[in-house]
Amino acid sequence: MSTSEHTNRNIGKVYLVGAGPGDPGLLTLRGKYLLERAEVVVYDYLANKKLLKHVAPGAEMIYVGKKGGGLHAFTQEGINDLLVEKGLAGKMVVRLKGGDPFIFGRGAEEIEELVGAGIPFEVVPGVTSATAAATYAGIPITHRKFTASVAFITGHEDPTKKESNIRWDKLATGAGTIVIFMGIKNLPVITGKLMEHGRDPKTPVAVVRWASTPEQQSVEGTLETITEVVREAGIKPPALIVVGEVVSLRKTIDWYEKRPLFGKHIVVTRTREQASELVAMLEEDGADCLEYSTINIEPVEDYSVLDLELAAIGSCDWLLFTSLNAVTYFFRRLQERGLDSRSLAGPKIAVVGRATGEELRKYGISVDLVPEKFTGEGLAEALVGEGMTGKKVLLPRALVARDVLPQTLQKAGAEVIVAPVYRNVAPEGRKDQLRQELEDKKIDMVTFTSSSTVTNFLTMVDAASPEELQQLMVGVDIAAIGPITSKTVEDSGLQVTVQPERYTIPDMVNAIVDHYRKHRNTA
Ligand code: SAH
Repeated sequence: MSTSEHTNRNIGKVYLVGAGPGDPGLLTLRGKYLLERAEVVVYDYLANKKLLKHVAPGAEMIYVGKKGGGLHAFTQEGINDLLVEKGLAGKMVVRLKGGDPFIFGRGAEEIEELVGAGIPFEVVPGVTSATAAATYAGIPITHRKFTASVAFITGHEDPTKKESNIRWDKLATGAGTIVIFMGIKNLPVITGKLMEHGRDPKTPVAVVRWASTPEQQSVEGTLETITEVVREAGIKPPALIVVGEVVSLRKTIDWYEKRPLFGKHIVVTRTREQASELVAMLEEDGADCLEYSTINIEPVEDYSVLDLELAAIGSCDWLLFTSLNAVTYFFRRLQERGLDSRSLAGPKIAVVGRATGEELRKYGISVDLVPEKFTGEGLAEALVGEGMTGKKVLLPRALVARDVLPQTLQKAGAEVIVAPVYRNVAPEGRKDQLRQELEDKKIDMVTFTSSSTVTNFLTMVDAASPEELQQLMVGVDIAAIGPITSKTVEDSGLQVTVQPERYTIPDMVNAIVDHYRKHRNTA
């Protein structure tokens, strides 16, 4: 009989997937593949919620809690029953578990139930917190000089109970490095047992809480002192304890918490399409980014101005682009009209800044003029320098935008045609969450990359008065990409903390890093 004859198409399959320790980048490729295809996702408290972004819309997501068993927490039996029920209903189920499913994860218990019910399953290993917590705290759990062995143990077991599963006498000196899960509550008893059975009281110990997340906190002591250190720092579960000489390497290797923006919660207000570059750069430097898409970019309803000019593009002297979106929507329309870059052979092309120029290069266009100052004023000044008398200038841009550029060029003698190609729309939703986070003082910085991000941020915050706005923003730094954006911020009664010298996103990120570096050194 071939295996396919055993396969019952009406029965689903359950995948136990290791979610890794917290950092969403530590999910395996296999884990991501399965999340994307899951019909049901059953996840608990240690699996980072950020991983759920991989799940397809429409999939059922079930939180099974388990942190000390709260109101909505399931018992282990409840989880087992749920997996069986969904499996029998023919679903493709991902059971997402913190770290590795088979390391103190009760993964095997869940599988025993599935086997009992005849439901097919698979297991995908994950990066266990045992190694990740140590690594993110700057500790290699093995090192040729210090240890040739590692033991993973649970500290959850009551070490005073008569029939302990842990041979403390053998363990204390038998393993070079000892990694202890779930041991915070029993820390005094655990360290006591290790010393009692011959481990040197001066042995270094580190404790790492919420490893590999923006909330990571780590402390260090010795077997003798660590209980007091942990109590003073107020460290609560989930945390991992690492005991052994390797902990002494931390002073050289510690890296994660040393990143310049570590622990900073930064709001990024950009359009959905554009947030990624800024977010990626801030996260590289260790920031926790809260993304709020304050603006949606949409096409305009009426392209007649542009269409008319495209028909006679040869008569234009200059074509100006003052934003990435203008480039995107201009070319979209060009293509809709059955044209392409070849029709732009006539006019010279100017852009407001480097990024806009790079965007144009994607369409095979190189730029004739980039101003030294990346603002509308800077561009106007540079163009006037080229001589504007009698020139025809086409400016595809947002439906609503500032008039400095066209006005200056007109004054200098140009005929300027403003062609709306896209519009900014403030989206609904997530408003309350942003406001709540500001009220809870969870935010260190808000970033603005254009005046309209400021305006839309203010709409979202929805403060009743300038005083209320200032109150909400007490202790929150503001980064603005350039002087125009800063002016819009200041017009609302708020103060800009960081503004880069050059008005680009990489420069803005550098300025933010410098700001916090200085801040930290003086703190
Ligand atoms: N299967 C998981 C462990 C589950 S037991 C794994 O392989 O990592 C739960 C315990 O794991 C917690 O009490 C804590 O001791 C540890 N733990 C899990 N994630 C952690 C994290 N991000 N930081 C510190 N400890 C963590």
